[in-house]
Amino acid sequence: MPGTAPTPDTEPAAAARPSRPARPAPAAAGGKPSSAMARLAKMGLKRDVDLVLHLPLRYEDETTLLPVSEAIARAGLGLPVQVEGVVTSSEVTVRPRRQLVVKLADDSGELVLRFLNFYGSQVKLMAEGARLRVRGELRGGFFGAEMVHPTVRTVGEGEALPDRLTPVYPATAGISQAYLRKAIGGALGRTPLPETLPQPVLQGPLARLRLRPLSECLRLLHAPPQQVDEAALAERSHPAWQRVKFDELLAQQLSLKRAQAARRDKNAPAMPRREGGLLTRFLAALPFQLTGAQRRVVEEIGGDMAAPHPMHRLLQGDVGSGKTIVAALAACQAIDAGYQAALMAPTEILAEQHYRKLSAWLEPLGVPVVWLAGSLKARAKREAVARVEAGEAQLAIGTHALIQDTVRFARLGLSVVDEQHRFGVAQRLALRGKADGAADDGAGAAAAVPHQLMMSATPIPRTLAMTYYADLDVSVIDELPPGRSPVVTRLVNDARRDEVIARVHYAAAEGRQVYWVCPLIEESEALQLQTAVETYETLAAALPDLKVGLVHGRLPPAEKAEVMAAFSANRLQVLVATTVIEVGVDVPNASLMVIEHAERFGLAQLHQLRGRVGRGSAESVCLLMYQAPLSPTARERLGTMRETTDGFEIARRDLEIRGPGEFLGARQSGEAMLRFADLERDAWMVEYAQEAAELMLARHPEAVEAHLARWLGGREQFLKA
Ligand code: ADP
Ligand code: MG
Repeated sequence: MPGTAPTPDTEPAAAARPSRPARPAPAAAGGKPSSAMARLAKMGLKRDVDLVLHLPLRYEDETTLLPVSEAIARAGLGLPVQVEGVVTSSEVTVRPRRQLVVKLADDSGELVLRFLNFYGSQVKLMAEGARLRVRGELRGGFFGAEMVHPTVRTVGEGEALPDRLTPVYPATAGISQAYLRKAIGGALGRTPLPETLPQPVLQGPLARLRLRPLSECLRLLHAPPQQVDEAALAERSHPAWQRVKFDELLAQQLSLKRAQAARRDKNAPAMPRREGGLLTRFLAALPFQLTGAQRRVVEEIGGDMAAPHPMHRLLQGDVGSGKTIVAALAACQAIDAGYQAALMAPTEILAEQHYRKLSAWLEPLGVPVVWLAGSLKARAKREAVARVEAGEAQLAIGTHALIQDTVRFARLGLSVVDEQHRFGVAQRLALRGKADGAADDGAGAAAAVPHQLMMSATPIPRTLAMTYYADLDVSVIDELPPGRSPVVTRLVNDARRDEVIARVHYAAAEGRQVYWVCPLIEESEALQLQTAVETYETLAAALPDLKVGLVHGRLPPAEKAEVMAAFSANRLQVLVATTVIEVGVDVPNASLMVIEHAERFGLAQLHQLRGRVGRGSAESVCLLMYQAPLSPTARERLGTMRETTDGFEIARRDLEIRGPGEFLGARQSGEAMLRFADLERDAWMVEYAQEAAELMLARHPEAVEAHLARWLGGREQFLKA
């Protein structure tokens, strides 16, 4: 009887996409699940429809056979070939190491199959006289043409060749391709896959896409006929792939829009503006006028907060555009209405700076502000937590410490997350869950949740915003405060360090301050620290008449804060720093930014760093020191930095260089859903998916359920951040 040889190491497990949320394996209904089933479940393949939507990474062509002589003539081309023949000899040799050497011949010639790892069962299967069909790469070996670890099947004489390509699936260790093929084939046979898109949608807004039935597309993708356009399959541009990707994007849109609707159904405290309140007094006390863009976003946010449903708004504005004051104004509106506000920042330096700034603004107006960070001494922390809990602190500012279990707000009405892209979904959810009485999602409609404002300086290109943030309202500050001149950026070869030091001296002589950012050393934090200390010592020696400070990630928070305070007060003229200053630091008198080994930084990071200068009225300069020779992508990045200071343009080019997954980081909510669609290449379909989603939600609720059940199963919860 023909059968498939067990070939434990001829089929390396293809890597599964890492972006799926890991879930524990379920217990099967009838007792203990087999280990293979448990492994499938771990990959997210629990239901038949999950298996059916587990699509091949690539294919192997087993539909044709080459005569051995012809296969030998093509040896060394690096292409897999399939031949069939009879075993003429088979032996296990022990020198130079234990291996199985099988000779296989047909009418045209003979070749060698070599196995370095093998089972006894394989030796039996490939005994002399056996007829084998083998597939692999043929190489010119020392003793003639040979295949190392080919895929082997025993066949009967004249056995028909398959007329379909053989799929190769994403798998994890312990799951063979043969097992997956069988499981998926079985599921395909059992799963009816009725159309989930209503006819009026297919023939209305989607008519131009000419979508083929999904069941037909999936059958094709799992077992493409021999004459299929293989290139289109490989590029995933084949109409069958397009249908799959469209359905996936549609599921994402449906789910995001539903989360948005669910949020609108929830209650939040309505906080209408109150004339003559804190907000008005604060605006009157401000030493500057808000820009037009700031006034516009303050109105948008104020409008949201006045409504009895939770705000879920992203405030985007380039570095230096003045987001902090907008957050402070929102906090005032909440406090005016009798609620507490919380502001969370990703680093202690930034949180502390916010604390100092906001308490300087608000405490004179009689608002108690509390500071909460991991570095606080236990007693101070207990006191801070108690003031938050008693409702006495009207504004709480801090780091992740704000979302720890011990912190309970008396009346949280607004949570603001600064540099939100630095936080994970879970952390953003946690802060929102801090309101009294607000259980997590899924709680009854009566629970009130706080308004949420997220702020980010990382501009998100439109198609990404549509897919990743479909359930967020977005406000944009597209104007910088007046009197700023754009930062002039220059590239300087590392060899000209003396000139750079002279520049530093000159800037300080003019009364200005300087940041000197040390090289990023990703491989070793210790080395990075050492470099920072050395840079600090060199600069301090080269600039004896200036006060030089050093700040890095390993410094105890209290010392870090001390150095930052000294720099803010101009008691230090030069601040040597690692990237701890990357986020949000605001010292308007600093006008020179030196970045060493700029070629090692990413574009977003360089833009953030450069944003630390150009915040006052003085002309500012950013010197990007680099070590030649530059790699092509480093050259591109630095060129971009020199050409533009526009955060949106930089983000667009960054996206071009890196692709969307990396651009946003894997933790963004929408990301986890997309396995097939590529947000760059398939962006054109997003608008169709949006339109279809709206129509379906409005008119075809049962179709929405069916579609989401097919695509998401239980994964929807993840999107509600
Ligand atoms: P970012 O948007 O990067 O968080 P910040 O809120 O730190 O920017 O603001 C940058 C600087 O601009 C701060 O020193 C802030 O006080 C100042 N600023 C903000 N708005 C205005 C304005 N309308 N006019 C003048 N200066 C402003
Ligand atoms: Mg900021």
